[in-house]
Amino acid sequence: MRIAHEIQDSLELRFSNLARTKNAKGEKIISFGLGEPGFPTPPSVIDAAADAMRRGFTRYSNPFGLIELREKIVDKLARENGVAVDAERIVVTPGAKMALSLSLAALLQPGDEVIVVTPCFPSYIPQIKIAEPDAVVRTVNMKKDGFALDLDGIAAALTPRTRAVIVNFPHNPTGRMISAAEADGLAALLEEHDCFLISDEIYERLNHSGHAHISPAARPALSDRTIIINGFSKAFSMTGWRIGYVTLPNDDLLKIVSRLQQHTNTNTATFIQMAALATFDLPDGFLDDYNARLAANAGALQAVADANPALSLAPSEGGLFAFLDIAASGLGSDAFASGLLDAHNVAATPGIVFGENWDDHLRVSLAIETETFADGADRLDRFARGLVAG
Ligand code: PLP
Repeated sequence: MRIAHEIQDSLELRFSNLARTKNAKGEKIISFGLGEPGFPTPPSVIDAAADAMRRGFTRYSNPFGLIELREKIVDKLARENGVAVDAERIVVTPGAKMALSLSLAALLQPGDEVIVVTPCFPSYIPQIKIAEPDAVVRTVNMKKDGFALDLDGIAAALTPRTRAVIVNFPHNPTGRMISAAEADGLAALLEEHDCFLISDEIYERLNHSGHAHISPAARPALSDRTIIINGFSKAFSMTGWRIGYVTLPNDDLLKIVSRLQQHTNTNTATFIQMAALATFDLPDGFLDDYNARLAANAGALQAVADANPALSLAPSEGGLFAFLDIAASGLGSDAFASGLLDAHNVAATPGIVFGENWDDHLRVSLAIETETFADGADRLDRFARGLVAG
């Protein structure tokens, strides 16, 4: 296989080596690095999988996914997102990552350009390059003060070769949610261009600010060009189950994605699809308590950052993360994360992992138990103060 040089192992940071050494020594570390919810998969979902296995959902099946599940997704998209999609235009995949991967492989030809809004989920750029080694990645940074979408930057990056723009809200790593004005702006911009919008909405349900989640595909100008990536990993703590889905806005793309699915995954495991089906029976307020816990952690971190001269923080609104600005500390993100881990046994992810322009940031996961989070935030506070003292 031709491997583009952009497809690399995760960055080899001093921080990662130190974390490995500390783990090997069995030191007790507070991890601000976790990318999955802290609650167990709901028991009713586990029961549904076990029951499905006993009932014979253990064989090959339709590559698109079980029709019962796709119909539930259709319903959800209409009710919660204001997006009308036929069940025939949905493909259930082994994880949201696979949904993205199949979509990119279906979309891209050599020389096509993809605009990626950064900081971003570290798999986006490698996935583009796996799908098409000769694709061109154009990164557009969010605004540093508050992480607004840089619509002018996206406008400047669009060319006749642009095949897709990838956005992700609620956002990993900043916790930003897309505003109505940004969704309108994106719609106005892309309407003029013959390209697709890939909207990764995997964190949609983890919304600790209560702001309404906006699906860009609900904007009429975007409905026929948006590929929605979503799944069950984050909302239902099913990260290891590997189940997600993609909506395809036209039959050509659908045909290619379904062929790719047939020749790679065959189908998503059927008993796991039955488990996903059971998530639709969970009560409406199922995530309220968990979102309240994320909100408490976000609030605690905000209070620390607001009072610390080495830190600043644009509020996290959704998803599992907050993205601390550490520029005033004088350290780059690897040195900051390594120092914090070394001195205080707190592991947080260096901003450089999410894009080269983000070495002045640190990602903090909110997905840990409240008391431990407060302890970690206190250690982070002391470490950062020490950097600017005197
Ligand atoms: N998209 C984003 C923005 C993520 O942060 C993640 C996981 O961390 C994924 C997609 C992957 O989701 P899944 O586990 O369903 O493949």
